[in-house]
Amino acid sequence: MKFGVLGGTFDPPHAGHLAFAKAAIGRLELDEVLLLPAYRNPIKTARSASAKDRLEMVRRMAEGEPKLSVSDIEITRGGASYMVETLMELQMVRPGDYWLLLGADALRSFEAWKNPRKILKLCRLGVAIRPPFSEADAMRGLSEEIREKVDLVPMKPIDISSTELRARLEKGSGLVRLFLSAPVIQYIKQSHLYGA
Ligand code: ATP
Ligand code: MG
Repeated sequence: MKFGVLGGTFDPPHAGHLAFAKAAIGRLELDEVLLLPAYRNPIKTARSASAKDRLEMVRRMAEGEPKLSVSDIEITRGGASYMVETLMELQMVRPGDYWLLLGADALRSFEAWKNPRKILKLCRLGVAIRPPFSEADAMRGLSEEIREKVDLVPMKPIDISSTELRARLEKGSGLVRLFLSAPVIQYIKQSHLYGA
């Protein structure tokens, strides 16, 4: 089986995440993509929704998508979420060919992650462009060791981030509907997340 793993804080999950997961399924012929909300991103401080709320929003976004599933293993493990530990766990419970899915911005910080070498023994990298980063930006300066593990995932660029959406929700801007699914918006409103 071929699995994709899309980790993130998903605070909140948006159309960029969804389009990336679908593009990866198509390009890499994946059987399944696991959406994997981190309990705590070790290199990120800003975060506003709880792990439980982020997990629920990701579940809602994935609803009705046959090849998407949601994993709570990082949230259940708690503490700082290290992808290397997650991939070891996944390979034990569900051995297979894995692609760690990374947007160009995430690839740029990959070498600062815990044990990137070990990660590259456990999976390949499926990389998508993400504005403002082009494919060339994404690959620039990467060691040969990493480059040879990268499979590019073409997708129509979607210039949105959770940070931008949190700001729009806080301002009460209506410009969120293009990027958040209706069940996610409904959950945000009913739970009063992001000042909405
Ligand atoms: P934040 O602004 O809080 O950092 P984000 O929008 O970057 O949120 P993350 O949860 O940090 O979302 O992203 C998880 C993964 O999804 C990363 O690999 C990131 O590069 C990728 N990703 C997020 N948004 C997009 C997008 N619009 N296009 C392509 N990849 C994306
Ligand atoms: Mg991010």
